[in-house]
Amino acid sequence: MTFPLNADLHCHSTTSDGTLTPEELAARAAANGVDLWALTDHDEVGGQQRAMDAARALGLKYLTGVEISVTFADTTVHIVGLGFDHTDPRMADGLADTRDGRGPRAVEMGQELAKVGITGAYEGALKYVGNPRLISRTHFARFLVESGVCRDTSDVFRRYLAEGKPGYVPHRWARLGDAVKWITQSGGVAVIAHPARYHFSPTLEYALFSEFQQHGGQGVEVITGSHTAAEALRYADIAREFGLAASRGSDFHSPDESHTDLGKLPPLPGDLTPVWSLLAERVH
Ligand code: AMP
Ligand code: MN
Ligand code: MN
Ligand code: MN
Repeated sequence: MTFPLNADLHCHSTTSDGTLTPEELAARAAANGVDLWALTDHDEVGGQQRAMDAARALGLKYLTGVEISVTFADTTVHIVGLGFDHTDPRMADGLADTRDGRGPRAVEMGQELAKVGITGAYEGALKYVGNPRLISRTHFARFLVESGVCRDTSDVFRRYLAEGKPGYVPHRWARLGDAVKWITQSGGVAVIAHPARYHFSPTLEYALFSEFQQHGGQGVEVITGSHTAAEALRYADIAREFGLAASRGSDFHSPDESHTDLGKLPPLPGDLTPVWSLLAERVH
């Protein structure tokens, strides 16, 4: 693959908590000048074939993708998988187990929000769900904005859905080693998503990166819509320190909600190994 490339290897469709279909995202990526794209729905590969077909029709290079929810040190950490075989049954089983608790958790979130006077939130969130297997906090956030409780989704998370807030229901997701294994055994590369979002102590952050690497993880998101310029520099240094490949992705969810559009990101620092250089054989 030629460099530099406008790669965007992180975004969400209606198959998880995005508002655009895989086809709409493919068209938007192509229109925005993306050369290499991956759709990375949360805990779900149901949109992969559609994304791949849409990308092919547009002449857009494609890597399969997923963003797996993991619990590490009592914190939710996201691991992106790229370039794996999306039909691998071990990946499908692992993701099904990971998604399993989402329904009961959502019911409980509705009950917790009712205690602070917000009624009908579960039913309201369901209206925004594009995939019955995948109800997320984002769907609740859209309902709370629609019903006028909050002015935007960031406001919802700040006041109701972040850890410690009234509508937050703790949940145990996949284990780090399992998520990395599902990705690598199906031929892909595992990447730590938006590391600045976890606010770990230096000791725990070191533990995350070293355990991730021991399990076979090979990449870290350096340039993401979730990082400030200073955070990108910091994780570029961590990529060098650990010898990890670097990834780049907007984490685009919706034209109305996302600050960073598909493909509209700074380039990766030139000395880092782009994660897609490990995946040349896996590009569709
Ligand atoms: P869940 O997997 O159900 O816990 O939902 C997590 C999703 O909520 C993330 O993937 C984001 O899309 C969204 N999210 C989390 N924190 C925030 C925030 N502070 N502002 C906006 N969206 C957020
Ligand atoms: Mn999301
Ligand atoms: Mn994430
Ligand atoms: Mn994401």
